[in-house]
Amino acid sequence: MSQVAAPTTLDIFRQWYEDSFTDFKLVREWKDVNAWHALGYFPVYFPVELAEAFDTLPVALYGAEGRINLDIAIAHTQSFVCTICKSVFQLGAEKRLDAFDILVFSNICDVARNLSGIVKRNLPDKTIVYLHYPIHNDTELAVSYLVDEYRRLVNILEETTGIKYDEERLREAIRLHNEKRRLIKILIDLRREKPWLVPFTEYYIVTKAASIMPVDKYNKLLERYIGEVVKRDVRPADRLRILVKGNFCEQPPLMFMKTIEDAGAYIIEDESLIGQYWIGEVSIEGDPLLELAKAYVSNDVPLTVRYHPSLDKQEFIKREIKEKNAEGVLFLSPKFCEPSLYDYIIYKKALDEIHFPYLHLEYEETTSSFEHLRTMVETFVESIMFD
Ligand code: SF4
Repeated sequence: MSQVAAPTTLDIFRQWYEDSFTDFKLVREWKDVNAWHALGYFPVYFPVELAEAFDTLPVALYGAEGRINLDIAIAHTQSFVCTICKSVFQLGAEKRLDAFDILVFSNICDVARNLSGIVKRNLPDKTIVYLHYPIHNDTELAVSYLVDEYRRLVNILEETTGIKYDEERLREAIRLHNEKRRLIKILIDLRREKPWLVPFTEYYIVTKAASIMPVDKYNKLLERYIGEVVKRDVRPADRLRILVKGNFCEQPPLMFMKTIEDAGAYIIEDESLIGQYWIGEVSIEGDPLLELAKAYVSNDVPLTVRYHPSLDKQEFIKREIKEKNAEGVLFLSPKFCEPSLYDYIIYKKALDEIHFPYLHLEYEETTSSFEHLRTMVETFVESIMFD
């Protein structure tokens, strides 16, 4: 009798990754087996620790990557709305978000802000939370304001789960998610140093699994995966080291990113899943709600959807390309995404000043033809390599 091979570490990540678009079957199973709740949140950043502290699985809703027809969403939204908003709405309208007891949206942009209202109106039985992050993050009131917002969410979590807020549980959740972010950073650093060891597609599957998997299970698996990856014997190829910016919310299809690497580039870093690690290490000393708020407000790494006038993004990108040893920058903007386009203008100006090569392209999560992209990237790569 032939034996079925045990799933590899990557296979397990892939199962959760596949579940994260339209099915959420593993989320339902996790809830049933562990008597947990589940919370779905719209990107980019969400303090996942808050959900975790109430035995609630936090899951990022990054859209459906073209896997469903968007007919209902198209009938409910304007044509100039980005595709992730349409696909998240469509998921809700098709009852594919039933696994979630709470859905959270925030003020990352006008479109996401309105999405919260449309979802609320069309899914009247669902608990919809609208989290309003501070706008002026360089004012003194920003932190206390955000603590109040987090308290409001805590009250909703208490009501939904019947669990009382416990600081110690929140600290433990922060500790676990700090560990997750530390491990993801190790993987990112490793790819930046030796991108030939982990193709972008594999990195993406592994990191996206962080947005849906129970954190404890994820951490153990990621530690094992990193141990396996460093032992790989792969020879580097002659490819251009490219830094990708702008894809922080709506996700380009995986094939889109693969086409970029196949066209002669190594994507040494990008922003696709930045919400999974951007907040960095949150202190577990003191009041954990306050520490979460402080970590958001004072983080000195720019996040496009957080307005922080005292951060100089132009200096940041000049430093970034130097430190990361990038040879070119690829700006990827989701169609109709104003935040991504605003940042492009800011960054482009800085790169023009130092005559650094860049290319700007648009995409949708439903993009399915990649020939044009391949030609554009190949030309870009060759123009730098043979300059
Ligand atoms: S893709 Fe851009 S426009 Fe759409 S919700 Fe995200 S930030 Fe807003």
